[in-house]
Parts: sequence; C-alpha cells; structure tokens
Amino acid sequence: MNVNYSYLKEQFKDYKVIFRELGKLIESGDYTLGKPVTVFERKFADLIGTQHAIGVNSGTDALFLSLKAIGIEPGDEIITAPNTFIATVGAIVAAGARPVFVDVTDEYTINPELIERAITKRTKAIIPVHYAGHPADMKDIMNLADKYGLPIIEDACQAISAAVNKKAAGTFGTTGCFSLHPLKNLNVWGDGGIVTTNSAKVRDKLILFRNHGLKDRDNVGIFGYNSRLDSLQAVVGNYLISSVSEITNTRIKWANRYDLAMARLKDFVTIPRRRPNKKYVYHLYIIMAKRRNQLLSYLNKNNIEAKVHYPIPLHLQKAARNLGYKKGDFPVTEAQCKSIITLPVHQHLSCEQIDYVIQKVEDFYS
Ligand SMILES: *Cc1c(COP(=O)(O)O)cnc(C)c1O
Repeated sequence: MNVNYSYLKEQFKDYKVIFRELGKLIESGDYTLGKPVTVFERKFADLIGTQHAIGVNSGTDALFLSLKAIGIEPGDEIITAPNTFIATVGAIVAAGARPVFVDVTDEYTINPELIERAITKRTKAIIPVHYAGHPADMKDIMNLADKYGLPIIEDACQAISAAVNKKAAGTFGTTGCFSLHPLKNLNVWGDGGIVTTNSAKVRDKLILFRNHGLKDRDNVGIFGYNSRLDSLQAVVGNYLISSVSEITNTRIKWANRYDLAMARLKDFVTIPRRRPNKKYVYHLYIIMAKRRNQLLSYLNKNNIEAKVHYPIPLHLQKAARNLGYKKGDFPVTEAQCKSIITLPVHQHLSCEQIDYVIQKVEDFYS
C-alpha cells in the first residue's frame, strides 16, 4: 500500500469542470481583479465570518501587506513563534521589522504566558500562528492585545475553519492571513492568499497596497505593491470553497482515528494537547515520537510519506543569525523539533490507508 502526502492529482481529477469556468474567464478577458476575485472575496468573508476579505498574491503577502496596513516601520518589533513556516518571519523582515520569538505550548502554538515578558516599547504587533491547524490561545492573546494596545495579525495560513469557542481563526485579530498554496487545505493552482478583516479602514489600505496604491487609473494615493489575487486562481478557489467543510471534516475524522490509536502507544508517542473548546483542522497531523528519525525512515520504507515540519526551528536558521538567538533559547520548540513527525491526514486517504499507517507505527515500536 502507498500513503501519499500530496493529493493534487486526485483532487483535480475532474479539472474539466474548472476548465469550463476558465473558458468563460478567457472569453471575458477579465484577468486582473476580475469578477471571480470579487466573488471569491465575498464567499471567503462569509465562510470565515468577517465583513471583508481581500484577495492577494500569497499567504506571505497577506502577512506582509497586513503589517504595512497597520503601519509597521523599520525598527518595530513583532512577536511570533519560532516553530512556524519561514514565511511568517520572512514577511516581518520584508516589512523592515524585527522578529521577536516566544516559545510554544504543548499544542505547538505560541505560549501566551511568555508573551508578556517579550513585549518592549518597540513591540508593534503579535502574530500568533495557528500552526498545523491548531488554533492559538486567542482568548489570552486578545487580553494581552487589549492590555498593551497591540494589534494582532493572525497567521491562519494553515487554519481555515479552525476555531476557538466556535469563533473562527482569522476573526480575532485586526487581520487574518490565509494561503491558497496548492498544499493548503483550501488551495488553487499556484500562489494565492487572502486577508480577512472587520475594519473598513484596514480593508481600504489593503486594497490600495495590493494594487500599486492606485485610487483609480490615474491617481496614486500611496506607494504600494503588485500583489493581486489572479482571476484565474479565484476561479479555482470559487470551485473548491464549497468543499471546505467536507475537506475539514474528513481530516478531523482521520486525526481522531490516529489519536485513538496513538493513545494506545503512549509509551512511545505524545499527542499534542487537545482542548475541548478548540476546533483543530489538521492541516498537518503532528505527534512527538521516540526514535523519530528511525520511525520516519521506517514509514518511508513502507511507502508512507511521513515528513517532519520542521526539523530546524527558525531562531537556529542561518538566515536568523543576526537576530542574536542561540540554542536553548526556546526549549519547548527545540524539543519538539527533535521528535515531531507528520503523518498523512488529507481528505483523499481511505480508512484502510489510515489503518495501514497506524499498523506500521505499531509494528515499529513492537
Ligand atoms: C504556507 C504558509 C505561509 C505562506 O503562504 P504562501 O501562500 O506559501 O506564501 C505563511 N505562514 C504559514 C504558517 C504557512 O503555512
């Protein structure tokens, strides 16, 4: 049996349906900020539960433009977690700001108890990452935001439809940032991203920033960027967005099945803490495992595409050298990096495939 990590071939088997929609777009020539983008933005805002959603070129740009929209300037400090995908930190640096890391909890998300002592006069925002589809502790984070008057930019790139107390990721902060990258839970045929917000002011800024700061054809309000969501990609997004709950529910079903089996192996593997008030959407199914590297190669040898997200925390990456961090600064993240493993959990797997993965993990430890 094969258990693949990527499911794109299966997912777009009936691509001809999308081709028909693309055909209509090509006949209209409506490529830049066309009608499919507006339609997608409305559907996305409704899905997440915000007043506005603004389509941009990528999840990275969703973060970067959010930082620009709240007025981040060179020298500002932005707090985030060191276990995220590099893009979170890349966006902070691209905006001219300095990333300040705070260690994570046993849910792999930023530890609110540690945020407070990282706040300085220069702190201008916090970016909690809903890592792996695990929503961060938004209640505590929003309390801190209120106390210190700090805007929150949610990195929800891995967390479409995740929620805390039934409130969706991407609705807590000043903005929520989502990626439509081919490997994300709601995906298109290349790069794409979208920002959610309830602020009309922030929406207006984002609309300017993504399109050269153009107020209309001839008038430039501010210097901006070119970071539009392509009409072509919005067509694909419009096709898939109605499947988000089905995609999410299947991932949750497989994750629950893994959780039950992994609980039986508790001498060897540790499931991240699961809170009853949170909805986890399992962009990644991650556990901590003893003898992780051996388990990884054992699973790979048995045609299971397990992976590690990620073996090197960001504060120890070469790119982060001049931030001045060292080994030992974030012990929880560092311990997780040594033992985490990601098992395939996507919506195109069968129950037999999930059980095969479980069987192989059991075989490895017996
Ligand atoms: C994928 C991802 C991004 C960046 O999204 P792109 O669309 O690839 O630019 C940012 N943050 C996190 C946590 C991600 O997983």
